[in-house]
Amino acid sequence: MRQFNVVVLGAGGVGKSALTVRYVHQIFKNEYNPTIQEDYRHTVTVDGEPCSLEILDTAGAEQFTNLNEVYIQAGQGFVLVYSLTQEASIKEVDNLRRSIQQIKGTETNIPIVVVGTKLDLNNEREVHKNTIHNLASRWNVPFYETSAKRNWHVTDAFDDLVRQMRTRYPHA
Ligand code: GDP
Ligand code: MG
Repeated sequence: MRQFNVVVLGAGGVGKSALTVRYVHQIFKNEYNPTIQEDYRHTVTVDGEPCSLEILDTAGAEQFTNLNEVYIQAGQGFVLVYSLTQEASIKEVDNLRRSIQQIKGTETNIPIVVVGTKLDLNNEREVHKNTIHNLASRWNVPFYETSAKRNWHVTDAFDDLVRQMRTRYPHA
């Protein structure tokens, strides 16, 4: 079975852990510990093909920038997470995307999905869908608006990343 390393990155509190736990365990964990980092192994079948994912749910990006560099080096696919209730979290996604490009150097077609969280809190929305649509097309990466709480589009986002990784790393 093919194996891929996935790294989940984004500002503290945007919902990285809730998203990852929803994807791996199909539950919503309504607790917040910004300092905890977890490593998950998860087998998924996308388009009939099973693969094994090692998913690193990172802790707050701010404190651990140097560590993030190590993770980015080892990562093959990246989930860049912002909260659609927190406009500032877009800035972090932009910074992370640039860091990934710097660290990966000349590599092209790096598998990335941009994921907006907390779609169920649409009444508290600060990031317009148009804003992220424009950014994502400028960056040439797909984006998904999701809710870990309601289980909206979480699997869609990860499936997209799996397809990108398969294409990018055909011999993995
Ligand atoms: P992290 O620091 O990025 O890992 O953020 P967490 O996953 O710990 O989530 C931070 C807070 O946002 C927690 O209180 C979560 O319950 C809440 N949260 C995460 N995802 C969602 C969601 O989809 N909907 C709602 N309503 N709350 C969420
Ligand atoms: Mg977390």
